[in-house]
Amino acid sequence: MKTELIISNLGYPRIGENREWKKALESFWAGKLEEEAFRAEMDRIQLELLKVQQAKGVDLIPVGDFTLYDHMLDMAVMFGVVPERYRHEGGPVPLSVYFAMARGNAQATACEMTKWFNTNYHYIVPEIGGIVPRLTVNKPLEAYRFAKNRAGIEGKPVVVGLFTFLKLSKGFEAGRLAEKIEQFLPVYIQMLTELEREGVQWVQIDEPYLATNVTADEWKLVEHLYRRIREQTAGLRIMLQTYFEGVDDFEKITSLSVDGIGLDFVHDGGKNAKALEQSGWPEDKVLGAGLIDGRNIWRADLDAKLEAIRRIAAVVPLERLILQPSCSLLHVPVSTRAESGLDPVVRGALAFAEEKLDELRILRAAVRQGEQAVEAELAASREALNAFRLLPERNREDIASGLRQLADIPDSRNRPFSERFELQRNKWQLPPLPTTTIGSFPQTPEVRQARLKWRRGEWNDAQYEAFMKEQIEACIRLQEEIGIDVLVHGEFERTDMVEYFGEKLDGFVFTRNGWVQSYGSRCVKPPVIYADVAFVQPMTVKESVYAQSLTDRPVKGMLTGPITILNWSFVRDDLSREQVANQIALALRQEVLALEKAGIEMIQVDEPALREGLPLKREDQDAYLQWAVKAFRLAASGVKDTTQIHTHMCYCEFHDMIDAIRSLDADVISIESSRSHGELISSFEQHDYDHGIGLGVYDIHSPRVPSVEEMSDMIDRALRVLRPELFWINPDCGLKTRGLAETVPALRNMVQAAQAARAQHFQRA
Ligand code: GLN
Ligand code: ZN
Repeated sequence: MKTELIISNLGYPRIGENREWKKALESFWAGKLEEEAFRAEMDRIQLELLKVQQAKGVDLIPVGDFTLYDHMLDMAVMFGVVPERYRHEGGPVPLSVYFAMARGNAQATACEMTKWFNTNYHYIVPEIGGIVPRLTVNKPLEAYRFAKNRAGIEGKPVVVGLFTFLKLSKGFEAGRLAEKIEQFLPVYIQMLTELEREGVQWVQIDEPYLATNVTADEWKLVEHLYRRIREQTAGLRIMLQTYFEGVDDFEKITSLSVDGIGLDFVHDGGKNAKALEQSGWPEDKVLGAGLIDGRNIWRADLDAKLEAIRRIAAVVPLERLILQPSCSLLHVPVSTRAESGLDPVVRGALAFAEEKLDELRILRAAVRQGEQAVEAELAASREALNAFRLLPERNREDIASGLRQLADIPDSRNRPFSERFELQRNKWQLPPLPTTTIGSFPQTPEVRQARLKWRRGEWNDAQYEAFMKEQIEACIRLQEEIGIDVLVHGEFERTDMVEYFGEKLDGFVFTRNGWVQSYGSRCVKPPVIYADVAFVQPMTVKESVYAQSLTDRPVKGMLTGPITILNWSFVRDDLSREQVANQIALALRQEVLALEKAGIEMIQVDEPALREGLPLKREDQDAYLQWAVKAFRLAASGVKDTTQIHTHMCYCEFHDMIDAIRSLDADVISIESSRSHGELISSFEQHDYDHGIGLGVYDIHSPRVPSVEEMSDMIDRALRVLRPELFWINPDCGLKTRGLAETVPALRNMVQAAQAARAQHFQRA
């Protein structure tokens, strides 16, 4: 069989094997690196990343995916989409303006940042406004030349498609999308024409928006857009790349005027493969088959992948087939090389970016030369996966039987909220409009140093524990002195709200170097859920009980909810996410009950990441919310009716999930609202919320101390739509990243605002 099968990559992690990229950025921002040295270091990193992909034998290496901050910001700046407030003199956009857009400066606030589809990557939202687009620089062209001159690589420039770019931008009415496309198109085409003139072979145009719910009108715009591009850049081969979901309208996408279409065959729920088999593939197009999971860290089952290739190749001839990851590898860590601390079986089951490129290479060889040519590698992969599958901790009978009996475990409280409300009111005797905080108090350098000393072994457990007790005591005294009604212990023992629980539950491992970019220079190292999740012993009881022993006021127990733990981890993919969520929920249920048994009868189960797992397609969202809510309730609802369950979420896009939030059936929820300028409040005008609720009255993301009047104003506005008996007064989120200097006066003002509101709404202070 004569074959031309090639492999392509869609994007590569920028951060470098040891986060060199992050370090360079932060040194530059701190003024420790001059611009020239900074640029030289970034060039060095970029070159290195290209060479890794070259060494792995990737046929089509992406260029232009590398960035100094974010690829959407790059697109905005390339087209001159720079808001007025960063005024600069025409010409290329200076680095100072570029970073001001990302991070703000003394004169101007940063552009908004938001999640890139359903990933944990965040992009800078372009503000289109009345800007007249112009080509300030041809970034993909520069990247193409860089790869060619410095490494002899014939790169594949990657750009965000104009449709996706504009759909993700703000500053114009949705009804004016067609007009905006018209306005940007000449500049977009100019960029592509320059690539064509340079002799570029393939361009990858990312249109992930086409894998969401696209309307008929939008498809018309997309057809028009790509027809226009084709008319003027006939010599350029365009690979239209989608990812993160299947494409609903297969007929439409396959008849666009492009040379190739990239489809995600991993995160599409099987839709793309099915459509391909049913509808066939047009003879004039190449298929980019995204078969290697670009979003998770597990080694691929290469036998299954070869089988998938065979099925695809029955429809699309191999010379028109390109093997590739399902999306950019931006979403996985760089290499497993540093993970010698892990159990070899677990380590053997991992494939980060570099290892994924190896998998593509092996698959290409297996197809081109036959499986015997890579027999040893196939066998090694098979063996690694088998050993992993057989690990006893992934096949626990106690956990499996727990899940089988799920239906017998009550996931609701004994009585409805209205009855619990009365019982709890009598039990707790709180003042009206009670004040509380979200959980963490400022983690001072002292706290971080103590943890470091303990981790390094310079302090023994007793020393560390004594230190923690001092911190808790000081925190309790401070809250009492400020006059807060419901106290917290301060969470000094936690670095991260997921890691803390992951380290104490069964089923998790932690990598040494498994960093991925979250936004800008911020990287996260998600825990890895590799096995069955199970409760081992109480995780938060000691701290909470100690805190409660110091005061007569109630202290809330504090834990992270099952969905947040799930959504902020890399998760095993042999079980459904729902099953894993239920495992976590059952483990946390035991923690909740252990707290209650120890006398902690106000318990907060945080779910700040509930919304992050929301599927891209509207039709899948209800099912997700249903099992997510169920998992929360499994964790939280085993308690007595007098025990008060709190939860916390920190975002304001609420209107579309208010029903789900109500069905969590938490006695009290605290949510962000101060940054959303009353949007949240107005959504409560339309939806009646009938459980306890605290809308954050000040923004903890800023060091600014809000005045009593400001907070009073927030409270008054909220009380116009929410019942005063149900209302709580609290900040937006945990205080961990704040300093005491601003936290103490802000909390004092908050308590004063609460007193004023009581006097006003309840006739007595
Ligand atoms: N209880 C946590 C804290 O206060 C909640 C953090 C969060 O919402 N992200 O830090
Ligand atoms: Zn929060």
